[in-house]
Amino acid sequence: MKTILTGLRPTGNLHLGHYFGACQNYLKYQGKYDFYLEVADVQALTDNFNNPEKVRKNVREITIDLLSIGLDPEKVNFFIQSKIPEIAELTVYYSNLVTVARLQRNPTVKTEMSQKKELFGNNGESITYGFLGYPVSQAADITCFDGKLIPVGEDQLPLLEQCREIVRKFNSIYGETLNEPEPILSETKRIKGLDGNDKMGKSLGNAIFLVDDDEKIKEKVMGAITDPSKIKKDDPANPDICMVYYYHKLVSPEEDVKKVCSECKKGARGCVACKKELIKNMNEFLNPIRDKRKFYEENTKVVDEILNKGTEKAREKAKEQMKKIKHSMMIDY
Ligand code: ATP
Ligand code: MG
Repeated sequence: MKTILTGLRPTGNLHLGHYFGACQNYLKYQGKYDFYLEVADVQALTDNFNNPEKVRKNVREITIDLLSIGLDPEKVNFFIQSKIPEIAELTVYYSNLVTVARLQRNPTVKTEMSQKKELFGNNGESITYGFLGYPVSQAADITCFDGKLIPVGEDQLPLLEQCREIVRKFNSIYGETLNEPEPILSETKRIKGLDGNDKMGKSLGNAIFLVDDDEKIKEKVMGAITDPSKIKKDDPANPDICMVYYYHKLVSPEEDVKKVCSECKKGARGCVACKKELIKNMNEFLNPIRDKRKFYEENTKVVDEILNKGTEKAREKAKEQMKKIKHSMMIDY
């Protein structure tokens, strides 16, 4: 059975970007493959090294989110990255196979670095060795489990490409050992943020979280960016530049979406009414997730057991794969 490997950073709760950009595919593929889901605490520490409490708290939080959307621990092995020392070991070996210049050119690293100026400086002059190297560590995450299919959002593509390069280099030097992973993208590859930013991100302050309650949803949707040229209620507007329409397309029934679009273009719908309709539909979408979350919040022991069991399983798999890798590298003393 082919292996699916994917990961999330415990830096905050799941948001709509995760759900529609990546998690829908987790749900689609669970049970059909040998599935490993990494809670990437080591990677989260690369830009949160000075905030260990945040990472620690979110390991359980994000696991609860993932269980609440319907992932089944019988079909998916949830594991904690730092509990698999083989990943760290492999990262060291791979660090010989990638140049610093190549990492500096990685578009995802560049974008994320520029979003973290307070940590890495205005022009990335204070970038750490760990953050610059996280794509190497991510290549280790994937190949440590012989991950073949990788369901991710679009921002992850340059990181996967980097992994594929490392795999090719490894095989060319040490002999055919590793498989090249392939990304699986969802229909909506990249979900925009409330501020209209290209990417909704948990560290970007522009996200609708799955844990947001009615009050928060109301506040966020009411503040969402709409077509700025629409001043009066009956002015016609362009739904394609409106974040409210954008989220209607994600959570509202198809007939509602069509109606929103045509009425907006004709000036037959005010923004306030349109937002209220979105709030209602968003809550309907979130309610079953909220119900499941309540169960896991009241039974955190169950969550910790799921993580322990999945981590044990993952460790076995990683050990096996490491044997193969060390043999190829002639360090199997
Ligand atoms: P951080 O800002 O801490 O990096 P994040 O919101 O980017 O958090 P990650 O844990 O890095 O979340 O990403 C987990 C998965 O969700 C990845 O596959 C990523 O591609 C996907 N993802 C995150 N945000 C979006 C988005 N806005 N649209 C589509 N996919 C997304
Ligand atoms: Mg990210």
